[in-house]
Amino acid sequence: MSQARIIDGKAFAQNLRDRLALQVADLRSTGAKGGQDLVPGLAVVLVGENPASQVYVRSKGQATVAAGMRSFEHKLPDTTDQATLVALVEKLNRDPAVNGILVQLPLPAQIDPAVVIATIDPAKDVDGFHVENAGRLALGLPGMVPCTPLGCMMLLRDVLGDDLRGKRALVLGRSTIVGRPMASLLLAADCTVTIAHSRTQDLPEECRRADILVAAVGRPEMVRGDWIKPGATVIDVGINRVPHADPAAAAEGRTRLVGDVHFAEAMTVAGAITPVPGGVGPMTIACLLLNTLTATCRQNGVPLPG
Ligand code: NDP
Repeated sequence: MSQARIIDGKAFAQNLRDRLALQVADLRSTGAKGGQDLVPGLAVVLVGENPASQVYVRSKGQATVAAGMRSFEHKLPDTTDQATLVALVEKLNRDPAVNGILVQLPLPAQIDPAVVIATIDPAKDVDGFHVENAGRLALGLPGMVPCTPLGCMMLLRDVLGDDLRGKRALVLGRSTIVGRPMASLLLAADCTVTIAHSRTQDLPEECRRADILVAAVGRPEMVRGDWIKPGATVIDVGINRVPHADPAAAAEGRTRLVGDVHFAEAMTVAGAITPVPGGVGPMTIACLLLNTLTATCRQNGVPLPG
């Protein structure tokens, strides 16, 4: 039985981060020669004590510093009101040392995330969630692209290159942070795109038609092997924590991460597939750094280094 190629997102992301560190060093020395401060700066704002968000914010900060960028962390209490957060974002918008702003989601219930995201200067919106950037992407115009779909696209290009053109792509999920922007990127790459969601009829049959299947549903191992077209490229965005496979370990409360695709089954049918963990996940942070570098260059009117 044939086995799919495993797409190593971890190695790809590390490679990208190494390249970005060189580009940042280049930009820094160009700036120093011209008397300009061109060191990219990323501000990350965390409201509250959500443990997963704390982990994400810590790793984003570490990755930023490792790439030679400046990291600014703003931690606010769980009781912070909307006006206070909006005032902080406005201050970061005005700060020339800050090139990228990321407000970690989810936010506490008293704060409307749409209001906060709308406050971020679109030029500093490295998450690509601002309505101006979402609109630009939908219209095929340049802007800031959400990190996870951007990372998926890089992996797809690495596997398929120009072969993306004319391929049938199915995006499973229509969220504003993954599904919709992913569909726009695939369309921009000349794929024939279908978006599936919870109201789609005969989902397995829709999936079976796809040369490229991107799963972003948040349902553990929902996509089975017989939903996949033989030889298809499968990008599994899902990150789901489930009880450990070994019943004794599960009884001790141990868990494991799985994707939205049943990996073992998919391995025998797909042409290439991203694992979970180690596939799309590492690409998200690498693309956040890429977006911060891109934002810095655009704000200063300089080209992206080499
Ligand atoms: P959302 O919950 O916002 O969206 C899920 C989408 O899946 C919705 O469009 C929903 O449809 C659809 N859906 C849910 N259940 C079904 C079903 N049974 N059949 C068909 N469609 C269904 O999730 P996100 O987009 O934020 O995230 C998706 C997954 O990706 C999660 O596991 C998340 O953890 C992961 N993720 C991973 C990232 C990474 O860095 N690797 C980054 C971001 C997310 P409808 O619109 O009709 O409700």
